[in-house]
Amino acid sequence: MQGLESANAGLAHDQFEIPKAAQPVPKWVPAMTMEGRTSPDGRDANPWKMARRQLSESVDRTSLPDELHARLAICKRELTVKFPARLGDGSVRSFTGFRVQRSISRGPAKGGLRYAPAVSIDEVRARAMWMSWKCALVGLPFGGAKGGVVCDPRTLTLSESERLNRRFATPLSPILGTEIDIPAPDLGTGPQAKAWFMDTLSMHLGHADPGLVTGKPISSGGPEGRAEATGGGIPYCTGWACERLNIPLGTTHVGVQGFANVGASTAKLVAAPGAVSVAVSDIDGGVSNCDQIDINALSDHVRHHGTVGGFPGARAIGTREILHLPCDLLFPAAVEAQITASNARDISSLVIIEGANGPTIPDADHILRERGITVVPDILCSNAGVIVSDSDWVEGSQRFLWSADQVRQQPRQVTSVGFAKMWDHSLEMRTTLREGALDMAIKRVADALAIRGPYP
Ligand code: NAD
Repeated sequence: MQGLESANAGLAHDQFEIPKAAQPVPKWVPAMTMEGRTSPDGRDANPWKMARRQLSESVDRTSLPDELHARLAICKRELTVKFPARLGDGSVRSFTGFRVQRSISRGPAKGGLRYAPAVSIDEVRARAMWMSWKCALVGLPFGGAKGGVVCDPRTLTLSESERLNRRFATPLSPILGTEIDIPAPDLGTGPQAKAWFMDTLSMHLGHADPGLVTGKPISSGGPEGRAEATGGGIPYCTGWACERLNIPLGTTHVGVQGFANVGASTAKLVAAPGAVSVAVSDIDGGVSNCDQIDINALSDHVRHHGTVGGFPGARAIGTREILHLPCDLLFPAAVEAQITASNARDISSLVIIEGANGPTIPDADHILRERGITVVPDILCSNAGVIVSDSDWVEGSQRFLWSADQVRQQPRQVTSVGFAKMWDHSLEMRTTLREGALDMAIKRVADALAIRGPYP
């Protein structure tokens, strides 16, 4: 991979600022049931069905025994909590939250908490399953977990958010712990939320334990370099994929769906070697300019307006329209189930690099394969967050100090090995990259289950 490293030499070293969403009026959002969940084209897009189908297809390809398939297909522990939190107007609302620990066969459970209106038990189960594959694929010593709260974080004031986080941490505390299950940020949360979580859990313990959560601020024991490292795996994977496919990265046109932690950092980092962003969207809409969108200016715009919409000098587009616009590289970096059987035929990019978890449903994968569109899968290229979480957790639990450079380098080092193995395995087995990545990761978790055996 030496040549690949040089192709990406300038990718991840610039500091950048991540746009923050505006904080408007408080509003409570009712739970959305998974039964009612649909993809953008109106089709059923239950992420848990997607994840289990991916598992079944991998089991068929690799001929894993039925007994192991049955054990891999379930989640070890699931907790649903209803908890009250006081809003700014003095009223008390009840919220629904989840934590799912899918597997602990390779180490403590680990994974982010998502705050969004569409959070549901099935969506959390799916992300927990993908998380366990993600860790196994690159050899991180964690099982998979995920969680979330049904709410719209953009409508919460800072003090409402603090009360919600502390009240959510409390009922989860019996199943969390530095050696048991370690939460991290995900969509709709960030370092401040993790600081409140860590503080609440530490108060229950009676002493400060920075190993309880990852993604906390530097002042609470988080490692320097985390913010820019979180989206860092995606640009590396982009560079390596372009090199393998003989696409000159410096001349590519790029579309980015989702423009915050992961999407904004991706757009900035791929701009360093010369990729030009021509379309960007977020939950409220999108903008396109076939010449170029200035990503730094767009970040400033989002900081002031809370959305990419209304960015001067660009054409307004719909949130989903971005998926069909002509570009070389498409980065889905928002939510799952965006690329479906209905819109996969309209996608005109050469390569899709998945920053979000589960943005492509299995039916769409088959169409993209037929059409010769390469998909660099989420379980590899969106794993910088958990790689940095590993450094964060080691620093917190062992009082070990990394330098910012070590933290920034870690995603590149770990991901480069995983990328090369995934690519070569997929070529050898004649699978897509996702199939290759899943087969390697699932086999690793299956081996861990088999060698430990059932207790007693
Ligand atoms: P975020 O909350 O910081 O940003 C999400 C972005 O997506 C925002 O711009 C939002 O407006 C947009 N968005 C939300 N719903 C959308 C929709 N339905 N259509 C279009 N845009 C939508 O979240 P993030 O941390 O950047 O996470 C984005 C994705 O990356 C998620 O799938 C998450 O699970 C995954 N991920 C996050 C991390 C992490 O450490 N933050 C790590 C790995 C993967």
